[in-house]
Amino acid sequence: MDSTSAPSSTPSSTLDDQTDSRRQQLFAMARTTTGFMPDDEGEALFAAALRAGSTHPGATFVEVGAWCGKSTTYLGAAAEETGAVLFSLDHHHGSEENQAGWEHHDSSLVDPSTGRIDTLPHWRRAMITSNLEASVVGLVGDSPTVSSRWTTPLAFCFIDGGHGEEPAWADYRGWSPHVIVGGWLAIHDVFPDPADGGRPPYDLWRGALDSGTFVEDGECGSLRILKRV
Ligand code: SAH
Ligand code: MG
Repeated sequence: MDSTSAPSSTPSSTLDDQTDSRRQQLFAMARTTTGFMPDDEGEALFAAALRAGSTHPGATFVEVGAWCGKSTTYLGAAAEETGAVLFSLDHHHGSEENQAGWEHHDSSLVDPSTGRIDTLPHWRRAMITSNLEASVVGLVGDSPTVSSRWTTPLAFCFIDGGHGEEPAWADYRGWSPHVIVGGWLAIHDVFPDPADGGRPPYDLWRGALDSGTFVEDGECGSLRILKRV
């Protein structure tokens, strides 16, 4: 695939009406869910996961960084359509950049009884409202703790967790080895120009390519799709 273009989904004209209307319903729900995923990037994420699910029957997907369930809804739509299961991982306390005083803080997401961000009720509501609970399983915990115990091969892995140097590399080191040959790794917030955003996701993407383990297989905005070779 041309590395400058987003992976394309099956044209909706070839889909049966029921599949197409369910897909459009889930896209509409994703668009109204709180989060950090532009519409076009979300649909490109969906298309990449759809390919993984279509080519690997009974596939397992992992998402690292769920927040309120926006990207989860796009990935869950691909899981549902292909019979895959998505494990959506987050400790739901927000990344460093989501804490009070930082750029991406939202005080309405703080649980007054603990004083901490808690996006789990929002994520859960999104999964119930979109009726994705049969295809999406929430994993509540710290990414390195879960990845170090994980054994299931992944046809698709999406990394969008903490964007600091240490958490981002921990996600890459912990999760990328679980991606099967012929499977896909997607990384969000990859900005070639430092003026557009932080370095770590870009460095992960470069590191994945430089390792020779992954090749470019599409992009949209700051979303990069890599295929394991
Ligand atoms: N994909 C989301 C945005 C994710 S924001 C969307 O579409 O809107 C990044 C998320 O990573 C936050 O919810 C934060 O809680 C989570 N996160 C950061 N570090 C983590 C860690 N070590 N373990 C689990 N989740 C983590
Ligand atoms: Mg992101």
